[in-house]
Amino acid sequence: MMRDSKELELRLRRIDGRGYKAYKDIAGSYDFRNFTLYIDHVQSDPFAPPSRVRVQVSQRTAQFPPDTYENKSRSIGLSDYLTRSFASHIRKFSRGIRGTGKSGLIEIDTPGQEILERTSAHINSEYVEARFGVGLPAAGRRILSREAIEILLEQLPRIVEAALFFRYHNSSSLYRHIKVNEDQDDLRSKLPSQRLVAFVANGSLLPRVSGVDNSPMSREEAVIFKSPPSLETTITVRNRGEVTGMGIRKGVTLIVGGGYHGKSTLLRAIELGVYNQLPGDGREYVATIPEAVKIRAEDGRYIEKVDITPFISNLPLGKSTADFSTDDASGSTSQAANIIEALEVGARLLLIDEDTSATNFMIRDHRMQQLVAKEKEPITPFIDKVRFLAEELGVSTIVVIGGSGDYFDVADCVIKMEDYLPYDVTPEASAIAEKYKAERKKEGGESFGVVNMNRIPLRESINPSRGRREVKVGAKGMHTISFGRQTIDLGAVEQIISTSQTRSIADIIVYARSRYMDDRQSLQKVIGLVMKDIETKGLDIISPYPVGNYALPRPFEVAAAINRLRGLRIR
Ligand code: ADP
Ligand code: MG
Repeated sequence: MMRDSKELELRLRRIDGRGYKAYKDIAGSYDFRNFTLYIDHVQSDPFAPPSRVRVQVSQRTAQFPPDTYENKSRSIGLSDYLTRSFASHIRKFSRGIRGTGKSGLIEIDTPGQEILERTSAHINSEYVEARFGVGLPAAGRRILSREAIEILLEQLPRIVEAALFFRYHNSSSLYRHIKVNEDQDDLRSKLPSQRLVAFVANGSLLPRVSGVDNSPMSREEAVIFKSPPSLETTITVRNRGEVTGMGIRKGVTLIVGGGYHGKSTLLRAIELGVYNQLPGDGREYVATIPEAVKIRAEDGRYIEKVDITPFISNLPLGKSTADFSTDDASGSTSQAANIIEALEVGARLLLIDEDTSATNFMIRDHRMQQLVAKEKEPITPFIDKVRFLAEELGVSTIVVIGGSGDYFDVADCVIKMEDYLPYDVTPEASAIAEKYKAERKKEGGESFGVVNMNRIPLRESINPSRGRREVKVGAKGMHTISFGRQTIDLGAVEQIISTSQTRSIADIIVYARSRYMDDRQSLQKVIGLVMKDIETKGLDIISPYPVGNYALPRPFEVAAAINRLRGLRIR
């Protein structure tokens, strides 16, 4: 028989005033009539990460209509909605920190502007579940039972009812959330059949409040997006129906325009178009194919045996670029490696902004070709490879470039941003390219070159252990993973958008290592197998116990983390 909430109360009373370790007695599950409480793990002291707790509400009580979770897209949308609702009811009913360390804290993973698959809430035909942390209260190291009883037996049931019972929700805002989320998946899935790689709906609001605040700029200040007529396309999605906007086709697209006219803002929206956004974000109907990868220069990064010969060869002193390794890459070598690594795991669209590119990687002009002979320049600039990427490999590029008209020669489409609005200037750009012939010579041969798909990571080189702990890994903020004794710097991996993704990546690497890395399978295969496992069995498989703060990362960011692990060895 399951213990009930009275039993929890008794146990808490019994340990009042005792040392913190006595809290271990309350681990287990309790029947609260309306829901079941699971105390999965009790923290070891008041400063440690909060105790891991779950609640499950049976659908008999919760009563979510089946159409709110009838497919994966909807259930992710609903889980996201419930997580946000749970968080807002914590703010309403919890009294916050009272006591030592994290005493009194109730915390659930808090999403930002994006809607991601997460483990903070689950829904199926039997129950709804929420996972969160509770800082069990203490004064110094002495247990405060009265406070613990108030948190677990009074505040928590109020939060659970308000957040996890369908009848207490505003059903129109709940349905809007899941339907807008579903439409985004639908829109994205329809891009390939229209030969598009990205789509930006008319009416979108792209700019953000600031560089550190991802929420939308106010409607009064922002210029609302409107497609040039020649690029306008209409796509029909399940709930909203017809959506009209700018379609960016496969091939090579330039975004040009004067400084401060909104080029980078448009590209950033396209980068994030691989994810779904919250209703009201302004970028809900910006969609990009899932295989889109932001590419930038990243000097200082670690590189292990990447064949960058398509872009760089004949380094001084005969250093090889067919299996190029360095502890400290330059701007151009890092940008080349970032492209090759992305192609290795299946990138179909490269997104490049001149603001974060190495100039000598992007272009070498006529005059420089005269001064520095090709034999003395290891770099084949991107301009000479971008068409081969499109034509041979079927990999499209969208590049923001305000500084070099030589790119007109290689573009299929040129979009000019002016006063934050896009114009299709493809005909003008072609006419200019015709009239003022570029004098630069094409470099780098008649094909892209070979992408090595068979980089085999050596298991022993990926070491998650530290001290006596066999596995000691975790996220230190959104852009850093601590992995055994190493630190992985993800500061330049711009499509990671949540610390919960970073946390997942750390554990995915450990899972991949123990399951699939056998010194024979390629990195690309290993990542494919792990992502398949997660898709079929859920994110929970990467942890031995229930975790409430994972969010799904993409294979590209998992690969990016492995590739940046200093010490990684490739066969
Ligand atoms: P660029 O890359 O062309 O130099 P940015 O995209 O960085 O320009 O934009 C410059 C500034 O203009 C930023 O502060 C940005 O927030 C703002 N901005 C961008 N798009 C819009 C818009 N549609 N409406 C209003 N302000 C915008
Ligand atoms: Mg810019």
